[in-house]
Amino acid sequence: MKEVAFQQCIAASCSARFGIEELLFACTKCGSLLDVRYDWDRAVVPKKLSAFESRWNTPGRSADSRADYSGVWRFRDLLPFAPTEKLVSIGEGRTTLQEADFLATTIGMHPGQLYLQYEGFNPSGSFKDNGMAAAFTMAGVLGKSRVACASTGNTSASLALFARHARTQEGLPLQAVVFVGGGKISSAKLAQALDYGAKTIQVAGDFDDCMKLVREAAEKLDLYLMNSVNPFRLEGQKTIMYRVLEGLGWDVPDWIIVPGGNLGNTSAFGKAFAELRHLGLIDRVPRIAIINATGANALCALVNEHNLRWNDSDWDQSIIDKYWSQMETENFRAQTVASAIEIGRPVSLTKALRTIDVMDGVVRQVTDDQILDGKALVGAHGYGCEPASGASVAGLRLLLDEKVISPADRVVCILTGHALKDSAVTANYHTGGPTKPRFANPPVTCAANIEDVERILTGKD
Ligand SMILES: *Cc1c(COP(=O)(O)O)cnc(C)c1O
Ligand SMILES: [Zn+2]
Repeated sequence: MKEVAFQQCIAASCSARFGIEELLFACTKCGSLLDVRYDWDRAVVPKKLSAFESRWNTPGRSADSRADYSGVWRFRDLLPFAPTEKLVSIGEGRTTLQEADFLATTIGMHPGQLYLQYEGFNPSGSFKDNGMAAAFTMAGVLGKSRVACASTGNTSASLALFARHARTQEGLPLQAVVFVGGGKISSAKLAQALDYGAKTIQVAGDFDDCMKLVREAAEKLDLYLMNSVNPFRLEGQKTIMYRVLEGLGWDVPDWIIVPGGNLGNTSAFGKAFAELRHLGLIDRVPRIAIINATGANALCALVNEHNLRWNDSDWDQSIIDKYWSQMETENFRAQTVASAIEIGRPVSLTKALRTIDVMDGVVRQVTDDQILDGKALVGAHGYGCEPASGASVAGLRLLLDEKVISPADRVVCILTGHALKDSAVTANYHTGGPTKPRFANPPVTCAANIEDVERILTGKD
């Protein structure tokens, strides 16, 4: 394994290489983000993606069959950085790609062309479990016993759950430390971190403050950092795309639509497709649409207004620096109802630029009202999702309006979190307020007698 996998700086002008077990969260030469990379000539990779189907339903207790049960490690040949005996799993990635014909026709698409990828069906209720399986595996390889993250809620829930199930070299659970923002975290997400026994530090500040603090704490107090600057997280999240392809019978869709927060998913998806193309396992790459909330729109503004581009890994850092310092001058704070994407300074920004390049991507922003309408549409025509996930359907509606996406295109919206993650927001939407939202389904009050029920159900007054 060690010979096949290594870490490498994403900037081609630097390209510094590091060993797979070097504990780094940025290039020591130039400060750029690091990739986990593989010497594919020496890795053993199936010749066709359909070969992975042989791993379905393999019962048994061997390391291999336990790995096959995981929707992440079933694809371990495509992220070969640790031996099978060391892979950590809590049953993550057993998620569903659902054809969504009623939703398709409601928003003006052709039936059969719209799919929803439900990553909320992971054990902790969000896609974060895909990445944690990989990062906890690395924590085990490195012999770490304390792990930490900053979080808007789902990363901490996932980390706290994995910490209970992973084991240190002494056979004990890992100690989880999570930094969450003071006010905004949904009660369900906070409850998960507390219930799973994580040391939960509520910082008087927002996600960006938490991120800064956890980086310092990790360095000073020997905590293993589990945010998506940890490149192993992204290796696990690549598998979301493998499962999408699997759900489509290994056909490549026209579009992937994903909400953009810290941009870990965006980064992982581009890397997944670049590698599949390099390996000759697909013959084309889908396009990606990354959807920001208007109140947390750094990527959208940098790409569409300031013309920031990957530019063969020679991106113009001065555009980014200028944007951050302007944010600081204005004391800008990200603000959106979709708390999971309420992030001012996405840590994986530069890798997201690479994804836009690889996947011929577009970036858009949608308002909180559009996000909530998108979420309600998923609830009305599917299994539901949390607010941030609604951004992908809101983005689809916008791109259909703009005619960037055609009703005949085959589109996959990534639904990042479970409907129960933020039920207060959902209940508020439906019970309304002064402005009745477009897809609200408010409860009807009723006296405790059958006449009143009849009046309601027959529509007679
Ligand atoms: C973390 C999260 C996001 C944002 O994903 P990034 O990879 O940080 O862009 C979106 N939705 C949900 C539900 C999340 O938990
Ligand atoms: Zn470098």
